Amino acid sequence: MSPRSFPSPHPQEPLFGLDAMPRAGADEPTPPPGGAFRDSARARRLLAIREIHAEPAAAASPRGRQILARFPGARLIEVDSHWRIPELHGNEGSADDWMRIKRRTLVLGVKKTLTMRPNGRSADWIAPGPSNGCALSCVYCYVPRRKGFANPITVFTNIDRILAHLGRHVAAQGRKPEPNQCDPEAWVYDVGENGDCAVDALVCDNTADLVRAFREWPTAKASFATKFVNPDLLDLDPRGRTRVRFSVMPADDSRLLDLRTSPVDRRIAAAADFLDAGYEVHFNLSPVVIRPGWRDAWAELLRHMDDVLPARVKRQARAEIIMLTHNADLHELNLRWHPRGEDVLWQPAVQQTKRSQNGALNLRYRDDVKRRALGDLRELVARHTPWLIVRYAF
Ligand code: SF4
Repeated sequence: MSPRSFPSPHPQEPLFGLDAMPRAGADEPTPPPGGAFRDSARARRLLAIREIHAEPAAAASPRGRQILARFPGARLIEVDSHWRIPELHGNEGSADDWMRIKRRTLVLGVKKTLTMRPNGRSADWIAPGPSNGCALSCVYCYVPRRKGFANPITVFTNIDRILAHLGRHVAAQGRKPEPNQCDPEAWVYDVGENGDCAVDALVCDNTADLVRAFREWPTAKASFATKFVNPDLLDLDPRGRTRVRFSVMPADDSRLLDLRTSPVDRRIAAAADFLDAGYEVHFNLSPVVIRPGWRDAWAELLRHMDDVLPARVKRQARAEIIMLTHNADLHELNLRWHPRGEDVLWQPAVQQTKRSQNGALNLRYRDDVKRRALGDLRELVARHTPWLIVRYAF
């Protein structure tokens, strides 16, 4: 096991005042010796669960009982469906309480429909995830769009069914017949499309169960993007079958847009520890937000990566480049709780409406603007981080 050279998350009361908003891992050197980070006082402040909305079957399941035992002081509220909780989802009043809800509320549900969607960009398949929603608060996040408003973490407690579904799918694929940009040998399954698996690991063992399952499947690999450095993941022994994609963006953008996340330099600093612990470590250059000075800011970030990342990380690193996707409803909502973020995200002069793969009507950079920006960013990567192979740019 590598030394844990990165800090633990450092939460305080993230209720009001975005300038005072804590960043996970701001100045804390290590997790408590010998103990799980998620049991530390700091982790419990980051996720101080006071209310758990649970479907009865989810609360009664082994995973549900494990979670309820972890938060014994939380009030249990029975709900018919994790999709319809009026005080959380679609409740305009909750915009003002965005941070408090994400920090203090948890939802437990049973994932009923298990589908495996072909992807071909970030991964070969988008797997049914172990959660939906997130305790972090990236301003551009698409995850709240379907449920509406704060969308705190919903943990799916039937992880055994999810794993069984995955196992059958992996077995049915057999060996990957030929390399593609997702991976030269393994079928890649994105297991964190609608949340952040590193944050979920503060709540329960769903992420650990996934990592352990994939290490037994030699033809497949799990993959998830994260903005949170959770040292507990270092103990899961993934044996190369899980790809962690640390999302990075220029520090100024991240401070404005990635609320409650680990600082970008901490994510980069953690890469070697994760590699040494058995993960494959890639980077998501995302989202790329076009604003005055964006090229210089990305050049600085890439130079920093080149300076601090050790050769062993560089040798295996790959990158995805993802331009910002925005959305009119999210814009309206963000204006109510974080209008400064919208100064850079909402740029109708260079954006156009587009129907996304999932059917949603979103706002993306105009084709000509995007083409030029992607070309510029690829040039910056070639100049400053020539070792970083771009798997795809979107
Ligand atoms: S970490 Fe990912 S899922 Fe969580 S708020 Fe940020 S973008 Fe959304």
